[in-house]
Amino acid sequence: MPRYALVLYPQNPELLIEDKTALLRELVDIGLIDKTIPGEKSAWYAGEQFVSLISFLGCSPYVRFAPDEECSRFTYISWQTLDSEPALHAGENLKPPRCPECKTAAESRLANDYQLDKELTCSQCLQSFPLQQWSWRQSACYAKETIWIWEVFEGEAVPGDVVMKVLEKQTNTRWSYCYIAVSEQTQ
Ligand SMILES: [Zn+2]
Repeated sequence: MPRYALVLYPQNPELLIEDKTALLRELVDIGLIDKTIPGEKSAWYAGEQFVSLISFLGCSPYVRFAPDEECSRFTYISWQTLDSEPALHAGENLKPPRCPECKTAAESRLANDYQLDKELTCSQCLQSFPLQQWSWRQSACYAKETIWIWEVFEGEAVPGDVVMKVLEKQTNTRWSYCYIAVSEQTQ
């Protein structure tokens, strides 16, 4: 079974936050994240306000905030930063992206194959566009900075306005979200 994550990413793919201290403090203050997870790099337990900041769409979501006897997987938040180039983040649930011009879907490929090129040419209108301009239909993102909220299934929950406004205010760019299913082999 792949691991699912709700992934938050800045709309400006070049955004690199050199010092995350202020932003992390604010995420602690609003209650999205809590203490760091021992032994993990850039990972935090979910904060006290997690279920009010991340809107679950089902009527009674079951969120596991720590590993228990039944399951070692639980919801936590991790942060990935790529220092050099932005990259396409995608997984097993990747959908073929739609052309920014004519909305035609590209042919289906694996995430790694899309990664080979910085641009993709539309089979319908024959124009080429950078990867980040294609519509990945909330199944991938192109960025340097990504925040991963683990064990949230595709479409199960959306980030609320409070979280998105904090991210926007601290980084001067709007943020979006997508869902990525990470296969266990790549962990
Ligand atoms: Zn096109």
